[in-house]
Amino acid sequence: MSDAILIIGGGIAGINAALNAGDYGCKVYLIDDTASIGGMMARLDKTFPTNDCSICIESPLMYEVDNHPNIEILTNTEVRRVKKENGTFTVRLLKKAKFIDEERCTGCGSCVEACPVSVPDELDGKIGGMRKLIFMPFPQAVPNVSVIDPRCRYGKMRELGACVGGCVVDCSQCRECPIALCVKACKEEGKDAVVLWQADRPMDIEIKSIIVATGIRSAEPDTGLYGYNIYGNVITYIQFERLMNAGGPTAGEIIRPSDKKHAQKIAWIQCAGRGLTKGLPYCSKVCCMVATKQTIITKEHDASTETLVFYNDLKAYGKGFWGFYQKAIENGVRYIRARPYDVSEDPKTKNLTIRYEDLDTAEIEEVEVELLVLSTGLVPSERNKRLAKVLKIELDNLGFFKEKDPMLAPLETGVEGIYVCGGATGPIDISESVVQASAASMKAVLK
Ligand SMILES: Cc1cc2nc3c(=O)[nH]c(=O)nc-3n(C[C@H](O)[C@H](O)[C@H](O)COP(=O)(O)OP(=O)(O)OC[C@H]3O[C@@H](n4cnc5c(N)ncnc54)[C@H](O)[C@@H]3O)c2cc1C
Repeated sequence: MSDAILIIGGGIAGINAALNAGDYGCKVYLIDDTASIGGMMARLDKTFPTNDCSICIESPLMYEVDNHPNIEILTNTEVRRVKKENGTFTVRLLKKAKFIDEERCTGCGSCVEACPVSVPDELDGKIGGMRKLIFMPFPQAVPNVSVIDPRCRYGKMRELGACVGGCVVDCSQCRECPIALCVKACKEEGKDAVVLWQADRPMDIEIKSIIVATGIRSAEPDTGLYGYNIYGNVITYIQFERLMNAGGPTAGEIIRPSDKKHAQKIAWIQCAGRGLTKGLPYCSKVCCMVATKQTIITKEHDASTETLVFYNDLKAYGKGFWGFYQKAIENGVRYIRARPYDVSEDPKTKNLTIRYEDLDTAEIEEVEVELLVLSTGLVPSERNKRLAKVLKIELDNLGFFKEKDPMLAPLETGVEGIYVCGGATGPIDISESVVQASAASMKAVLK
């Protein structure tokens, strides 16, 4: 019987589960269907309630996983088929082509410099983040190799001026490319790591247990919610997180999208898009502390910036959370218990007026701000549905993975040998994700 474990999802939960199981002596396959491990935490600025630099604490763990003798990382990789027989799972994985030889690429970046086309970054596009068609997912990515946007490789970026645009030969038929500037730049570095003809690679593994750690996403609000996608200076809390981040598209400058000026008065609307009849019918737990963190960091950037948080019901449930909230108040953050109604924009200044009911005074009030941040909550990975079908386990009515019994058998699923942890179970913060990962990895290794 195999002693190996498969962990699906390489965020902070998957990374911790992999390190625990690997240290225990099991062979671990850690897969992620994006180009790097790291998950959401790799994109955050600092983390509540300590305000540690997020990537500074996650990156050493990513490095440790990468260099662990018992852990094999497979990025750009999906689970395609799972069969269980006599307590062993046979799993078909599909490693999708990055069009890069990961053994040869050293992440030097010369291919990225040579690429002539920039497109809006998936995460940071709204706040001005751009990336090339060949790119590094983020500076500390593991594995630290480039990846090619498949749209470029399949000829869909011709009209944007992709250098392979004029070629009529399918790359899969060709093992030399005299046209692609990234291929040329890589050869000049003596590496020859860009492989435009690379194909997807199926791989079969045998394992004794599976941990699902597919995490969360930041909810995208509907167009029109408090002016989102209509007024340029209404952004989401993940976009604000990226604005604050020194490694983000504005190098940590908190500027408004409309005119790139520093925002001097910023409001947060909590529970944006939440509702029992429409929108998210649950509390995402972390948003009050995320907004609190963001106001404290904003004040660290510039103490004179005014910060207002419109909230309904403050969630400060975790260790150190209440003290963190008190710190924000001491720093001059204003918390207003309110029900915001609507937002309008001054067409000249692009400032936003928020009309709200103050729930303490029952008065209708108005306030003008320069930037508005919507705390929109956490939703499950959109890939959960497909994965649940392949693994033959259930999702709950919200789209998170269903635990066998949340009281007496948490982290277990309807299939013996398949466990869940972190955001795959529901909205969660980092420390809870790590606790769950430790527990799930113990269940998985003892299987
Ligand atoms: C704006 C914002 C700020 C936050 N700030 C804080 C904070 O300051 N402090 C704090 O404690 N928490 C914070 N959080 C919450 C924190 O991000 C989560 O608790 C944490 O990321 C959960 O970790 P995870 O590993 O479970 O999931 P994730 O970080 O989401 O990682 C999941 C991984 O699984 C991969 N994956 C998904 N589906 C598949 C699939 N089908 N196959 C293969 N791979 C898959 C994804 O690509 C991803 O790499 C914040 C969240 C947001 C949105």
